[in-house]
Amino acid sequence: MEKKKVLVLGGGFGGVFAANELARIARRRFEVELINNNNYFVFQPLLPEVAASTIHSSDAVVPLRQLLRRIQIRQADVMGIDFARKCVTVVQGFRRLPVELPYDELVIALGTGVDLNRFPGLAEHALTMKNLSDAHLLRTHVISCLEMADVATDAELKQQLLTFVVVGAGFSGVETVAEVNELIHRALRYYPHIKHDEIRVHLIEYAPRILPTFPADLAEYATKRLRLHGVDVRIGVGTKSATSTAVELTDGSVIPTRTIVATIGNGPYPLVESLGLDLKWGRIKTDRLMRVPGHENVWAIGDVALIPLRDEPGEDPLGYAPQTAQFAVREGRQLANNLLAKSKDRELKPFAYTSKGSLASLGMSKAVAEVYGVKLSGTLAWLLWRGFYLSFLPGFASKVRVLVNWLLNLVVPPNIVLVQSAVPGTRYIHYRKGDVVLEPGMLIDGFYTVTRGALKLTIDNPETSEHFEKVFGPGEHFGERVLLRSALRTGLVVALEDSVVLWISQRDFTRLARAFPFLETYFLSYIEKTFGGPDKAFAPGSAEQAAELEHLH
Ligand SMILES: Cc1cc2nc3c(=O)[nH]c(=O)nc-3n(C[C@H](O)[C@H](O)[C@H](O)COP(=O)(O)OP(=O)(O)OC[C@H]3O[C@@H](n4cnc5c(N)ncnc54)[C@H](O)[C@@H]3O)c2cc1C
Repeated sequence: MEKKKVLVLGGGFGGVFAANELARIARRRFEVELINNNNYFVFQPLLPEVAASTIHSSDAVVPLRQLLRRIQIRQADVMGIDFARKCVTVVQGFRRLPVELPYDELVIALGTGVDLNRFPGLAEHALTMKNLSDAHLLRTHVISCLEMADVATDAELKQQLLTFVVVGAGFSGVETVAEVNELIHRALRYYPHIKHDEIRVHLIEYAPRILPTFPADLAEYATKRLRLHGVDVRIGVGTKSATSTAVELTDGSVIPTRTIVATIGNGPYPLVESLGLDLKWGRIKTDRLMRVPGHENVWAIGDVALIPLRDEPGEDPLGYAPQTAQFAVREGRQLANNLLAKSKDRELKPFAYTSKGSLASLGMSKAVAEVYGVKLSGTLAWLLWRGFYLSFLPGFASKVRVLVNWLLNLVVPPNIVLVQSAVPGTRYIHYRKGDVVLEPGMLIDGFYTVTRGALKLTIDNPETSEHFEKVFGPGEHFGERVLLRSALRTGLVVALEDSVVLWISQRDFTRLARAFPFLETYFLSYIEKTFGGPDKAFAPGSAEQAAELEHLH
């Protein structure tokens, strides 16, 4: 019998369990290939512990090739699907060339992305908690804030660095805030200039209570526990906007901070939106068999799919499978069985599953749990939480690694090693009215183009008593003169109103200016026109200067 080709898109809970089950029950009938953009499976419930340094980042993931030994694994980015020709386009390999892969059956299990664009500034300034790099970045960021606060001489800046805001109090938000809070307080013994009462940790939730999927009394317990550990839990209030120095809430209050973590805003990946499929609430609509209507050979499972749990659930969110790992696993397994049934011309079964319960860690060895209707809280629930996730974690080696991390963490202090990661070379930065963007004496960092608002530059030269002022509006730019000339800022730039700038790193900017002669010419004449007289120190193409600037960067 000729094997049918099954392509599984996405190596998360849904995709991995579907592929594994197919290999187990229908190896002779199907050739299964799983495509994922990383070569590992992320155990998302452990991400808050990665952010908190409890678990080493590589121990919260499992290599797909080791996990799915009987399945072809392809590390590639899915770029498009041609449903008429039954093929998927991926970009892969060293040359990143597009390749078309034909399929007989297609399983879409791509999960969801994050869309924070509804809130001005949040996409640019919030950290997210979706994948391994997010958790790693949050850990690095929190420890950097402690390092910078320990040496800060400006009280206002120190307070911003020591204020941490987590937005969204579903289980990822609650677990993130609890774990990060624990990391900070455990680490403080190594930061002699920071006191415990200088730390501010906020949890912001728009709904009237936290942990909406838990019974109300457990959510109440969790709220009390978090507050006891110093977390300011604010319910019934949402995020309005964010800047590099603050987050504004819907009740009008403003929290000055350098750390915003958004666990809200689940949204479809642009790829999923571009497929032309019927979406509802950002998820691909399926029938009860998990088949995409109108496409005989296309199926969707996991967070990306909207799978009805009963006929005609309409607008009732509870009538659809929730976006949890627990459901994604069951959907994956059941889909494998349905594909086998289809290949044998047998009847397919509608998806049906009832949650066995929920668990959420609250840090400091406490948790809440509801399992088979039994409610637990405190240390017992925490032990259950750990035991459950350990048993659920796929792969023996991963279980051992996580267990060792947990045991070590009981007896050794938290790991506060700061591994510097690359800062993006170009990004948008939002400023609130009055924010100081640049100060005289600051080390050069980048080139700024105003995209919204207005910012004022003031240069005072104490030696010559010269004074210079200029207001920059949309389309205008600043930073090039000092960037191309010397190592320290000479002017003060303040936001005159809420503003947005496009920031290009010093290194990228100098490379661009040197690569394009017209840019050099433009900046030379701009500097001459704006600041008066040619700037002798600006020597386009000077290799020494380039080397010096790159070194400084
Ligand atoms: C911090 C956190 C804590 C959580 N805690 C719990 C919990 O305690 N209990 C629980 O039940 N659930 C929990 N969840 C939810 C749970 O993790 C998700 O419901 C589950 O991961 C969904 O599985 P999935 O397979 O649909 O998607 P995912 O696990 O997100 O997998 C999708 C995969 O597709 C890949 N992908 C996406 N786009 C492309 C592309 N274009 N090309 C190639 N690959 C692509 C992604 O990289 C990813 O590997 C938590 C989630 C988070 C973020």
